Amino acid sequence: MTIDPNRRPAPRGRPPVRDGALRCTRCHRIANQLRVNWPADQLCNSCFYTAMRTHGVCPICGHNGVLPGRANRTDPRPICLSCAGISGNYRCATCHTEGQLYRDGHCARCALRDDLTDLMVDGAADPVTMGTIVTILCGVDRPESILSWKRSPTVRALLTGLAGGDIPLTHDGLDAAGQNRQVSHLRSILEHNGLLRQRDEPLARFQSWLASKLDAICEPSVQAPVEQFATWHHLHRLRRKSKSGQTSHGPTHSARQEINETVKSLTWLHETHHRTAATCRQQDIDEWVATGPTTRTKVRTFGSRYVT
Ligand SMILES: [Zn+2]
Ligand SMILES: [Zn+2]
Ligand SMILES: [Zn+2]
Repeated sequence: MTIDPNRRPAPRGRPPVRDGALRCTRCHRIANQLRVNWPADQLCNSCFYTAMRTHGVCPICGHNGVLPGRANRTDPRPICLSCAGISGNYRCATCHTEGQLYRDGHCARCALRDDLTDLMVDGAADPVTMGTIVTILCGVDRPESILSWKRSPTVRALLTGLAGGDIPLTHDGLDAAGQNRQVSHLRSILEHNGLLRQRDEPLARFQSWLASKLDAICEPSVQAPVEQFATWHHLHRLRRKSKSGQTSHGPTHSARQEINETVKSLTWLHETHHRTAATCRQQDIDEWVATGPTTRTKVRTFGSRYVT
């Protein structure tokens, strides 16, 4: 490659506007399409969204409402719709708040309330409680986020399940409804607002994990001692700690490791030596630990309690 000594350096500053492209007057980014073309401003989507969420008292006329405009090119103070010469309807037909309209002359919060009332309150088994949930969901900082969250069929099934009473409004009810992020999100909203008591999530996940782990062990002579060890050594201790307000994240992690290694070692003992936890000897534990990865040492907690 040869370098042309007369080559001009690349121009500094903003890149030139390409044919057909437009530049937002607030953020100066180039967009193929601008969201609004106001008398003093041409805004991209993101700047329009920010402008319509700016509320306060207009420094020019004293109007208290949405302040999407700017005083002038050199004065960035936000000003109201009429002082900025912005025409069009920006007032919600239901709550009369000024701002961005979401649908049919209604703001996002009022549109969300309509949708959720249809979905959850009308015909509900407990309309008062469902009404409280709707009020909570509509009270979030960004109702648009709940509008997009509830588009998911999983969320709709969850909300209608709660409304119809098929999903009890309890931690167990939500556990049975599924282990997914939609359920977790709803659970945390309900906990935060006092409709569900706060619970120790790592401990709850541990209990659910333990139940499936035990179910998956087909050999009764392996399952019984693992269940005894997991319940008496780990679960009771975790519950005690949880009551005293300590986080269960670290302890549940190490409990899982010890239980996993105990299952593996007892399965090996059964298949290789045809012995069980009751007839397991210290040398079996030593042999198991010596012939595998270092994680096998986790079985020593079980060994120290149940093997003589
Ligand atoms: Zn912009
Ligand atoms: Zn004004
Ligand atoms: Zn409204």
